[in-house]
Amino acid sequence: MVRVLLSIVVPCFNEEDVLDRFHDHVTKELDRLEGEFELVYVDDGSRDRTLALLQRLAAADPGRVRYVSFSRNFGKEAAMLAGLRHATGDAVVIMDADLQHPPELVHRMVALHAEGYDQVVARRTREGDRVTRTLTARLYYWAINRLVDVELVDGVGDFRLLSRRTVDALLGLGEYNRFSKGLFSWVGFRTTTFAYENAVREQGRSKWTFGKLLNYGLDGLLSFNNKPLRAAVYLGLLLVSLALAYAAWIVADALLNGVDTPGYVTLLVAVTALAGVQMVMVGLIGEYVGRIYYEVKRRPHYLVAETETGPQEQEGRAD
Ligand code: UDP
Ligand code: MG
Repeated sequence: MVRVLLSIVVPCFNEEDVLDRFHDHVTKELDRLEGEFELVYVDDGSRDRTLALLQRLAAADPGRVRYVSFSRNFGKEAAMLAGLRHATGDAVVIMDADLQHPPELVHRMVALHAEGYDQVVARRTREGDRVTRTLTARLYYWAINRLVDVELVDGVGDFRLLSRRTVDALLGLGEYNRFSKGLFSWVGFRTTTFAYENAVREQGRSKWTFGKLLNYGLDGLLSFNNKPLRAAVYLGLLLVSLALAYAAWIVADALLNGVDTPGYVTLLVAVTALAGVQMVMVGLIGEYVGRIYYEVKRRPHYLVAETETGPQEQEGRAD
């Protein structure tokens, strides 16, 4: 068996419009590289012709083109995990199918990897993004880097090269809720980053809606530590101190200036505000409990329906 030096992992969800172009483009680039490569496509339960296209590509170039097809859409995180599990290369590059990650950059990644880097990260500039999106991203990364233990960088996504030992380290993390951005940073190893010009998606549509982004952001916040819970404790303490100070002031006021008790509005505001705070805190605890619930179930991250070798039985247990 030939030793594969580089595996390219490509999560695909409804990418029939760009898949062929992506494949041509990427194979052209990879052919110029020295050493063997393989393409591992992951069909994340696409409902269009993506799987048919992958079957055709794999049949046309057996050995170099492989694919994994899920039984339904499990999300990009699961697709990346499956790709990493199936990749056999000494190094793995994760790329989007929509040509937003320029295949030309793979050369640069490989060169940097040869210099001894375990993670070569491509950071996109936010040129061409809507101002609101850029601003929210800035704010989010500012806040999250104060809250979580790992460092997250704006513009840094999943487009990166990982050395074999980095991949193995990532595969060793069996958590059900995978927040890759943080996991990459958590495993560490020698990492280098370079910037590239942002490319606008040419065909098909981004699957990110505002709601999805919001949930993703929350995941990032909650996946790494219990600092939000700690913050809740401090907020509680702060509120209690405020309440005590206010009570002391009222008592002093009554003693000095005589009793005077309007304060209906004060009461209403205090009660609703506190109820709100409590609600948020209970929700926060619930989030963590929910995560534990998913972790203890130990469900697989995805189910494979077929690969290039044919239909599959069960696979993908978390342990
Ligand atoms: N993707 C996937 N499963 C999903 C959603 C997306 O595998 O549920 C893939 C998609 O095919 C693409 C990559 O993840 O290759 C990035 O998706 P998209 O372009 O929609 O995200 P964006 O570039 O807007 O961040
Ligand atoms: Mg995209």
